[in-house]
Amino acid sequence: MVDSHGSGALLTIDLGAIVANYQTLQARLGRVPCGAVVKADAYGLGLSEVAPALADAGCRTFFVAHLEEGVALRSHLPSPEIFVLNGAMDGDEQVFEAHDLAPTLNSLDQIDRWARFCRTRGSRPAALHLDTGMSRLGLPEDELARLADDPGRLAGIDLRYVMSHLACAEEAQHPMNATQLAAFNAARARLPAMRACFTNSSGIFLGSAYHFDLARPGLALYGANPTPGQANPMRAAVRLEARILQIREIDPPRTVGYGAAHRVDRRTKIATAAIGYADGYLRSLSGRGMGHVAGHPVPVIGRVSMDLTTLDVTNVPPAHLSPGAFVEIVGPHHAVDAVANEAGTIAYEILTSLGSRYRRHYLRVGA
Ligand SMILES: *Cc1c(COP(=O)(O)O)cnc(C)c1O
Repeated sequence: MVDSHGSGALLTIDLGAIVANYQTLQARLGRVPCGAVVKADAYGLGLSEVAPALADAGCRTFFVAHLEEGVALRSHLPSPEIFVLNGAMDGDEQVFEAHDLAPTLNSLDQIDRWARFCRTRGSRPAALHLDTGMSRLGLPEDELARLADDPGRLAGIDLRYVMSHLACAEEAQHPMNATQLAAFNAARARLPAMRACFTNSSGIFLGSAYHFDLARPGLALYGANPTPGQANPMRAAVRLEARILQIREIDPPRTVGYGAAHRVDRRTKIATAAIGYADGYLRSLSGRGMGHVAGHPVPVIGRVSMDLTTLDVTNVPPAHLSPGAFVEIVGPHHAVDAVANEAGTIAYEILTSLGSRYRRHYLRVGA
């Protein structure tokens, strides 16, 4: 890393906001503990910084997607419970054991393999995942029936939770929520008694019937809105500012960027900022995204290119415009949900695309 201001965008991650969001969710859950989903490098915000901050705030259970993510997380957190949502592939059992990781058992085959491993190596933790409507991971109905008929297949496993995942939790009125809840309760009644873990971020806001014994939010911790259509109850945790490299004024009939996709219809002042689709500033934001300079909205004009984005800064007072000045891409004037909306996607994709070229700055808890 060269010691310079560089031209890369500046990503500021507010660990205090993430911890405050954890506490907000925990308050909503009351006596039910709040876990944390930190897959995909804590949704792009940095596992090695985010996970210890959450552990310090009292989080005792973490979820990742991949085994490798679990191994990395274990190196930061010696004691908490870590579940690997994608489960254990055949032959990975020793890695799970070596790093004290718990697989999510997503099929009868995975149950049988983990049970065999536990019988030779001693009881090891796991969670049992049932499919109640996602049709993605988890035991389908017919495998649940076979397990219910033969619960001895679980013998030897230290089964910590039975879990399932909501398909439509961010739409509070969606009938799938109640359908999946009923399916989950019915399935639990057919299995040996054990604690249950059901809800993601949005599901926490569906009420206590969805909370069971452990919640596993991701997105809301990172400040995006788990209740679309209503005010965001979470605190923003991300600020992204891109540096202006150059400013120019052009007149019609000049065009801007690749494909000559934007033709100016008046004298236009353009700022070229050092951020592009290679940084996760999605190309679908071409002609649709919005930045802010000193609080003034500056629309993206022309196509977003790999390393650069052009913005119409005609209406910004010149005092705020110079090479090296910053354009706010995500921040107090423009939430991550707004960027997602402009890009035609969801905040999850914006966060997990955050670029590796950014200079990252972490605001410590209590800072
Ligand atoms: C990603 C994930 C979560 C977290 O969901 P959010 O909507 O980000 O809160 C919870 N459970 C499972 C199974 C997941 O894959």
